[in-house]
Amino acid sequence: MSATVLSGKELAAAIRTQTAAKAAELSAAGTPPKLAVVVATADESSAWYVRSIAKAAEKVSITCDIFDLGPDAADTDIRHTLDALCADESVHGIILQTPLPDGVNAQEVALSICFDKDIDGANPLSLGRLAAGLPAFAPATAEAVVRILDYHKVELSGQHVAMVGRSTVVGKPAAHLLLDKNATVTVCHSRTKDLAAVTSTADIVVAAVGRAGLITAEHVAPGAVVVDVGTNPTDDGGLVGDVDAASVNERAGALTPVPGGVGPVTTALLLHHTIQAATR
Ligand code: NAP
Repeated sequence: MSATVLSGKELAAAIRTQTAAKAAELSAAGTPPKLAVVVATADESSAWYVRSIAKAAEKVSITCDIFDLGPDAADTDIRHTLDALCADESVHGIILQTPLPDGVNAQEVALSICFDKDIDGANPLSLGRLAAGLPAFAPATAEAVVRILDYHKVELSGQHVAMVGRSTVVGKPAAHLLLDKNATVTVCHSRTKDLAAVTSTADIVVAAVGRAGLITAEHVAPGAVVVDVGTNPTDDGGLVGDVDAASVNERAGALTPVPGGVGPVTTALLLHHTIQAATR
């Protein structure tokens, strides 16, 4: 039997509809919502991602300004740009795109993103607040994991979730959000001994690793729910997740697709957060 497909497309569309309505209200009231994206890389996949955010913003009538500082930008150039955007009252949300130039510490410079405009939870202080249960924007991808499970009515309370990956962008914040939903969370990483022995005891497996096909049927308990956060480019220009969908499909109860799962919900949430920031 094949796993149920937990699509993110319908949820993303619902979030976009709500966002567009709020954006129109804000514009009518004289506060047109604006997102600023700071880029300091020549990385092609990063450029593609930024273009897709700008296009999505345009569709819901949020202005998206891109500040391209070039791949040789210094730490101070990035900080000054972030300071200026924080001071600019017409800007409501700020995204600091990665990767950053060699030698620039992403976490250190992200400290310059003011808390109330940190709509992708990049400032380490936002992660600290999230961990402490204080209001903060979560990184959109981490929030997308929980939102997609909620949308498909997957029970989290009391369930054992194996979170594979511990980055500050996905794994750690997702683990905190899952804890807040009363899940029992085990965080796995590259030093975890016998990953399959851990993940195969979980009710829900979330993969955020960046290795195509790492999670196979042996990593998954029969009937478990699997969320695939991975986005790994293929040689033919496609995209595959961290889950080997062909084998996991035969064993899992439900699985998010790549593309069409966590990705669209992430983009929709970034814009939704921008509206929330503009409304505050
Ligand atoms: P990352 O910063 O590279 O972190 C990867 C994590 O995976 C690390 O914690 C690493 O462990 C762990 N890991 C690596 N190899 C492993 C292994 N063999 N077994 C177990 N754990 C292993 O990546 P990220 O930024 O979190 O992104 C993860 C994936 O999500 C990528 O494919 C990325 O493209 C995707 N992503 C998707 C979206 C979206 O919107 N859909 C957004 C963001 C990211 P250590 O900590 O020990 O090194």
